[in-house]
Amino acid sequence: MSFNDRESLSACVSTQVGCAVACTFCATGFLGFTRNLTSQEVVDQIMCIQRESGKRVSNVVYMGQGEPLLNVEEVITSIHTISQSVGIGCRHLTVSTSGIIPGINRLAEEGLPIVLALSLHTPDRKTREEIVPISKKYPLPKLMQALADYAEATKRRVTIEYVLLAGVNDTDEQGRELAQLVRNVPCMINLIPYNPTETPDGVTPYKRPSIRAQQRFKHLAESTGKTVTIRLERGTDIDAACGQLHNTYNK
Ligand code: SF4
Repeated sequence: MSFNDRESLSACVSTQVGCAVACTFCATGFLGFTRNLTSQEVVDQIMCIQRESGKRVSNVVYMGQGEPLLNVEEVITSIHTISQSVGIGCRHLTVSTSGIIPGINRLAEEGLPIVLALSLHTPDRKTREEIVPISKKYPLPKLMQALADYAEATKRRVTIEYVLLAGVNDTDEQGRELAQLVRNVPCMINLIPYNPTETPDGVTPYKRPSIRAQQRFKHLAESTGKTVTIRLERGTDIDAACGQLHNTYNK
């Protein structure tokens, strides 16, 4: 990802080939899980981007294919290598998870000052179990506690990621519930308008809410004083935005 206001790049890296979590809005989830990447394969993605572009990578987000915290030891090793040998400080690294509590606790134990991002996507248990099936294993109250513990251990605010799906998780009630659910977690909330993805049957399962609905939801989510932003999207034009990563060459 490149930005108008700086020369350096942000890299979005994968940690697995495919993913077992099977979120219903995500093209990677449709692939199923193939294998974990090694820490070296994670680092190589950054080296490759720098070599091919001739530009420096200054930020890394672990938001490509895979659930990083289901490959947590390789992810931790890669973070050490990136911060110590590639020269990108931990404060410029973000690890995103669908909510794997043992992995969050393991990261907290390591005490790295990275940013942890939780893909929450709804405060409602039933809806979350439908769109992020692995959440059946990790109940929301325990997950919120794990995030608060993580923030306490690392002294870093967590980011709550929320993909806005029209008519599914963008109701007024869910906006208010979201604000309540995260009120005791040191965090900011990042709303991501849905990027269209096709299932293997050629169906696009969700719709993006209107700008007006996005703004309304933002307003409700702010009601307990958290900072809420709507993410500037990048990569939709080449099917490489959030939730769109899959292996087109397999077709
Ligand atoms: S959103 Fe992330 S965790 Fe969910 S299926 Fe896609 S890659 Fe896996």
